[in-house]
Amino acid sequence: MLKSIKEIYASKIDYQHIRVPCETPKICKRDEHCYGSCGELHNRIESRKSHCSSGENIRIIIDKKTLRPFDILYKPGVKNLFDIIREEGAD
Ligand SMILES: [Zn+2]
Repeated sequence: MLKSIKEIYASKIDYQHIRVPCETPKICKRDEHCYGSCGELHNRIESRKSHCSSGENIRIIIDKKTLRPFDILYKPGVKNLFDIIREEGAD
């Protein structure tokens, strides 16, 4: 039987890094850990080794709740960067 792999939601992703909340901040002395994002911002699940002391395999979930750089521009009712690009076209 397969051992279940812990799933952790990424808090933020940008073109360099995926940021994942630390599970043991008192031991690691930090709030989050960084993984390479391979320059991709889309939703997905990444299999990696935990950077916490356990070092076990984890699944990092990147979904619509994961903060992207353009989300900083997003406020309810206000166009975000993607809406503007869609409307104005990107070339
Ligand atoms: Zn940690």
